[in-house]
Amino acid sequence: MTRLLEVSDLDVVYLGLTDEGNVRACADINFTLERGEILGIAGESASGKSTLLTAVTRLQQAPAVTPKGSVRFYDAGDSEGVDLIAADEKALRRYRWSDISIVMQSAMACLNPVTRLEAQFADALRAHDRSLNRAQIRQRTADLLAMVGIAPQAMGKFAHELSGGMRQRALIALALACDPDLIVMDEPTTAVDVVMQRQILNQILRLQHELGFAVLFVTHDLSLLLEMADRIAIMYGGRIVEIGQARQIADDPQHPYTRGLRNAFPSLTEPRRERHGIPRSPPDLRKLPAGCAFEPRCDESVAACAAVRPELLDIGPCLAACHVRAAERGVAPLPTARPA
Ligand code: ATP
Ligand code: MG
Repeated sequence: MTRLLEVSDLDVVYLGLTDEGNVRACADINFTLERGEILGIAGESASGKSTLLTAVTRLQQAPAVTPKGSVRFYDAGDSEGVDLIAADEKALRRYRWSDISIVMQSAMACLNPVTRLEAQFADALRAHDRSLNRAQIRQRTADLLAMVGIAPQAMGKFAHELSGGMRQRALIALALACDPDLIVMDEPTTAVDVVMQRQILNQILRLQHELGFAVLFVTHDLSLLLEMADRIAIMYGGRIVEIGQARQIADDPQHPYTRGLRNAFPSLTEPRRERHGIPRSPPDLRKLPAGCAFEPRCDESVAACAAVRPELLDIGPCLAACHVRAAERGVAPLPTARPA
């Protein structure tokens, strides 16, 4: 496998406009993505998933800033890569759409309501290849729409004339227009009903097999991710607390939070069993504890957990940030309760 993306020590902070202070919505984020890989990100609401995607694609807006870290993107045959965090707008434009496509939650907000679909596809296709003539663009647009199961007649329509599911699929087709290496999707199916969700996701999977793009995909539906992703990262309180193969997250989750999340979702293959939510609420990012953010909700915690923040360590089956698991597996001793 060859590397496509490498996120290192990334922080994203929303600068506080009031005396409530700053929110460090993503902290010390590290992960990699290989070409053609599907990496899913899961976690409760406000754990920083959308913030991470917007920072990775440099779409974050004020008051969000990235005070530290890098997002290195490797174009085909480029072993150096380019840091998207440090890149200027001109350089970013080169990567957006042609190498990296983005499908965000609201298709209506992404499609231009006053332009026919055909014109939006023409813009995207021309940005990639200026030499295309009108007939070629029409043909290519029809092909792209066909890939997501939309008849070519829809080309002449405005976004508001399409159903929610069609808009979402049109947006996916638009994302594919430039044959990107990476598609970033934030809850691409929450705006549509369950049957349509399945259809759209199956289409994405089929296209991914056919075209080989990598996917970075956010949802809080863990069952969906287990089905779709190669690997899964679990976020809690702005940090990745576990990252591993989807199979491992499904069958042998390590972090107590992942175990809780896993128990809260129905399994697709196992018989129905009782499901339990995780008791108590997620942390307030403005008042994070010194140690593990999950400690107040964790039924396995020891004294050190509240005092010392666990690092994301290779504990064998996966990477996990948990003192108890690391000690259990002989990777690191339990720290003393007082931070050094
Ligand atoms: P959800 O599952 O609900 O979409 P999420 O995991 O995507 O949640 P984010 O939207 O990334 O979470 O939010 C992470 C944290 O950043 C939250 O505490 C949120 O309140 C805060 N946040 C998000 N956007 C802003 C903003 N524009 N200004 C200030 N804080 C923000
Ligand atoms: Mg979100």
